[in-house]
Amino acid sequence: VISYIGLGSNLGSRRDQIKNAVQAISKIDGLKILNQSFVYENPAVTSEETKMDWDKTFLNTALKVETQERLNPLLLLSELKKIERNLGRTSSARWSARPIDLDILSIENKIITSEELTVPHKLLSERNFVTAPLRDLSPHMKINETSILEINRKVENPLPVWMGIANATPDSFSDGGALSNVKNFEALLTDWTKASINVMDLGAESTRPGAAALTAKEEKARLKPYLQIYSDCKNEPGLPTLSLDSRNYETIKWALSFGVKIVNDVSGLADVRILDLIKDHGADYILMHSLSVPADLKQVLNPKSSTTDEIKKWLSQKLDLIEQAKVPLDQVIFDPGIGFGKTAVQSIELLRNLDVFHNYKIRLLAGHSRKSFMKSFTKNCASQRDFESIGFSLALANKGVDFLRVHNPIAHKKTHLGFAYAH
Ligand code: ATP
Ligand code: MG
Ligand code: MG
Repeated sequence: VISYIGLGSNLGSRRDQIKNAVQAISKIDGLKILNQSFVYENPAVTSEETKMDWDKTFLNTALKVETQERLNPLLLLSELKKIERNLGRTSSARWSARPIDLDILSIENKIITSEELTVPHKLLSERNFVTAPLRDLSPHMKINETSILEINRKVENPLPVWMGIANATPDSFSDGGALSNVKNFEALLTDWTKASINVMDLGAESTRPGAAALTAKEEKARLKPYLQIYSDCKNEPGLPTLSLDSRNYETIKWALSFGVKIVNDVSGLADVRILDLIKDHGADYILMHSLSVPADLKQVLNPKSSTTDEIKKWLSQKLDLIEQAKVPLDQVIFDPGIGFGKTAVQSIELLRNLDVFHNYKIRLLAGHSRKSFMKSFTKNCASQRDFESIGFSLALANKGVDFLRVHNPIAHKKTHLGFAYAH
């Protein structure tokens, strides 16, 4: 039986408590953890009677678990309550601050409505901090006929996955060379871990207009020291998930052994063999729309036709290839490729209408950070465009865009938390 357990902590050392709870859950007899979602930071649910000192920020995550028949729902609930007590949960007041809260979110297709247990959890569909982790684990899982991917997009203040950009390049458009010293990379990894940034997207090839293409050999040589450091930290709790920004089959194949879990293919599937790697490793695959890589300023979508219609046509064809390769859509994330083969006007139009792609029932990513379309309203150079980028992030998060790929993820995430508190 496949079940989902929600974890939350807003008192004491939140990250340690989540870690300890996961460990204790893994030891429950008859239960196996299959996967853990990303970790989210969110204000506490408050009510009329909630005291202000209860209103502390939560860390939330969820587990996908497999349970044996002998571990029936009530037994699982009592095991979870035991763990809550062992980790210092004392206050019984509803919605009070707590070192740990463990709730059963769903158990296969079971519906339970007893005094002690309601499954699916009765407030599941209204809680962004539950729908976001479930979207990570099984986007196509259905709750009362609707997929969790869709439910998460309709929830109040949906929580995006924060994907920070780490450029192992000497020539990137906005921060070229910033990480040329691997010591800087170690520091970045530590900072992002502390800030609970969900994903680090590491790339060695610049895609800015005019950038030189790399051979697999050059790309691997650039990536190696970074992948080595990441791989050495692999067991660090809270380490961002590693995404590789590459379009080269050889490079991707080689890098998967360093712990890469997401492949960010900016070529938009120029080489379909990449799908075999995705299938074999169960990795996630980011499919980006582009007309050319590196970006070519002269090659843009026809301004006379609808930008979203053109991209939809392209996407349908690519999704056919993905289906033929038998890669589950659960593993696919679509990025419309802001700035790749689009004019500034087209990029802005696309960002305003990104929700048209919700029809495709796959996760969506936006990569708007510091891009050149911003020149149409700011004189700031690329490295100085974070405020403008954050403005877009807030709007995109609210549209239910699942992943936000940004240069300064800590600033984006902090601003979004302030935004969440204002709701
Ligand atoms: P909420 O239910 O709004 O998330 P809470 O998690 O703070 O609130 P608790 O104090 O942890 O609430 O639990 C109150 C009671 O809810 C528990 O004693 C438990 O028997 C009951 N309960 C009902 N359904 C569930 C479920 N799906 N998972 C966990 N507990 C549940
Ligand atoms: Mg709860
Ligand atoms: Mg509870």
